[in-house]
Amino acid sequence: MPQRHPPTLSIIAPIYNERENLSELHRRVGKVMKSTGDSWELLLVDDGSTDGSTEVILALGKSDKHVLPVIFARNFGHQVAVTAGLDYSLGQAVVVIDADLQDPPELIPDLVARWREGYEVVYAVRAEREGETWFKKATAALFYRLISRITDVKIPLDTGDFRLLDRKVVDAIKQMRERHRFLRGMAAWVGFRQVGVPYRRAARTAGATKYPFRKMLRLAITAVTGFSYFPLQIATYLGFLSAGLSALAIPIVIALRLAGHQAFLGQATTLIAVLFLGGVQLISLGIMGEYVGRLYDEAKARPLYVVRQAPERPGTDD
Ligand code: UDP
Ligand code: MG
Repeated sequence: MPQRHPPTLSIIAPIYNERENLSELHRRVGKVMKSTGDSWELLLVDDGSTDGSTEVILALGKSDKHVLPVIFARNFGHQVAVTAGLDYSLGQAVVVIDADLQDPPELIPDLVARWREGYEVVYAVRAEREGETWFKKATAALFYRLISRITDVKIPLDTGDFRLLDRKVVDAIKQMRERHRFLRGMAAWVGFRQVGVPYRRAARTAGATKYPFRKMLRLAITAVTGFSYFPLQIATYLGFLSAGLSALAIPIVIALRLAGHQAFLGQATTLIAVLFLGGVQLISLGIMGEYVGRLYDEAKARPLYVVRQAPERPGTDD
């Protein structure tokens, strides 16, 4: 295989059943990059699509030498698809973009301009969102605020994965091989000089969201467990709280009994107390289970993804 030459910019698009969007994505990215004159490559990472996206990606790869197909053996998830893009990219800077054109490729020159000023992470901040349900917007808003409250890393509010990363940042993130990935958090964790560029998030051009509530919830749990011990500490706080309450209650009940009161007779109070504490214990166990399961996944140390077809890969780490 001929040696690949590092371009200025690598653009990474994760793709899961986005057939109708691909040629438009390719056209718009091509047009923008032509206007800037920088050298570029477009890594289209097919995350186990089943709607014929794979064939479209391979055809684009044949007709345009800028397009590099990375074809997964099955669906590994959005965050892993982006990671594969980072692994295969050669650019001095990398732009991660959604394939559904919610992130306008026309913003890329603005991101690049900030990068040239010396910023190493330039993230696009959603100033406005179109075509999304109030439920999606509300849960997204809640999610970002929760994360910033309970995690140690400062993840900028209202940013997605649409961002530019300098090669130094990409190389740092490439060393983080955790299975349960939250790339926005990882990009914040590595530090470097970061800056935001506001943009209007458009509606999807075609197709439906690939992030149903269930997947969003999983990503939220990954984000929380990946960057915070807070859920584990909740058990400790609740333990102190209930121990404290009973320490207060014991002398009060004894005193009342000695004074002749028939206080707190009956099964109902006992039952409620037992159910409450049983529930708290099961929830704590479940939270521990989340962490233990993740530990087990990491211990297995499987590769993050399996490719059926991919370009030559820079370096041989992993
Ligand atoms: N995606 C992916 N694998 C998945 C789910 C999504 O590669 O398992 C891609 C999808 O094709 C899109 C991007 O991730 O390019 C963002 O997904 P989507 O637009 O559905 O998310 P939303 O914008 O609704 O949050
Ligand atoms: Mg989208």
